[in-house]
Amino acid sequence: MTTTRVRIPLLDLKAQYHSIKPEIDAAIAAVLESGQFVLGSEVSAFEKEFAAYCGTSECIALNSGTSALHLALLAAGVGPGDEVITAPFTFIASVAAVGYVGARAVLVDIDPSSFTLDPAAIEKAITARTKAILPIHLYGQTADMDPILEVARRHGLIVIEDAAQAHGAKYKGRPAGSLGDIGCFSFYPGKNLGAYGEGGAVTTNHPQYASTIRMLRDWGQDRKYHHALRGFNYRMEGLQGAILRVKLRHLEQWTDARRAHAMQYDQLLANSGVETPKQMPWARHVYHVYTVLTDNRDELKAELEAEGIQTAIHYPVPAHLQPAFADLGYRTGAFPHSEVASRRVLSLPLYPELSAQAIWEVASAVRKAVSAKTQSV
Ligand SMILES: *Cc1c(COP(=O)(O)O)cnc(C)c1O
Repeated sequence: MTTTRVRIPLLDLKAQYHSIKPEIDAAIAAVLESGQFVLGSEVSAFEKEFAAYCGTSECIALNSGTSALHLALLAAGVGPGDEVITAPFTFIASVAAVGYVGARAVLVDIDPSSFTLDPAAIEKAITARTKAILPIHLYGQTADMDPILEVARRHGLIVIEDAAQAHGAKYKGRPAGSLGDIGCFSFYPGKNLGAYGEGGAVTTNHPQYASTIRMLRDWGQDRKYHHALRGFNYRMEGLQGAILRVKLRHLEQWTDARRAHAMQYDQLLANSGVETPKQMPWARHVYHVYTVLTDNRDELKAELEAEGIQTAIHYPVPAHLQPAFADLGYRTGAFPHSEVASRRVLSLPLYPELSAQAIWEVASAVRKAVSAKTQSV
């Protein structure tokens, strides 16, 4: 195997750290001096600020996005025998969390233009056991929430948003995390708002869900050493809270940069032979990733790699075809749009600090690879 030096990485967390180093270093030093290493005042302050950012009354900070999904499902009362409708084209956590509470993930295909849960397919999947719908705001764009919420209302279902890739994304002007009953965020380092370690949060406007999740994240305690619920150790660290507070102040500017970079790619890749991502009419897309579509995905990936351009596939195998979820009982062909997407998607380098020159180089390399391919046919 030949390895070419990476000239243009998929993302660059160090560049972002260097752009805010004095603020971050001071915030970290203050936590070390305070001794508040788990939860504490920085985490509480971050919860208030992130709730305000998402337009919700409540935010509960946790140790990962997966924990957010797990506790959201528990607070919603989802358990053994229940079904949760979600999409197979996602990061595996969305489907895995349903299993954590003993419920069954009932999968529904995506709409191929937005890569998000197809509202028209949901109704057919509803049974007497259905308890919740879990749409995923994939790639930084929200699912089409109005028809999803309408079906949910008619059937008395709870809507839990997987907003792990959608910090600051909007649906018809309203922020991700405030659209359903409960929103779940991840602050994994590579996410649009990333901690320097693991992190996650739940947002909601329901005080009852919020107080249950607050208890569940800290051993189900209502007072110290009094356990009203069987809980978990899912608390956010003080350092992550302080770091996220600093980064939240820059998030809108970073999102604007991501959106500008995506527009530049859109222009440079117009009529190039690859399909560029669509911003749906309802969406403020925050481009967690910039994902193009092509029939020759693996060749394009290899040719970009040879030029020192790092890419990624989000995601190569849909959940229903993962060996770990074979017991869900789905076969190849069950979700054609998800399966086609998994063969055709390729994410190009995109992060706020990416230069216009680098974008131009990536787009040129894509054009060159695609036109060479067309000529050889
Ligand atoms: C990252 C991610 C998660 C999980 O978040 P972690 O913080 O890594 O646990 C869940 N769902 C989606 C769609 C994600 O991208």
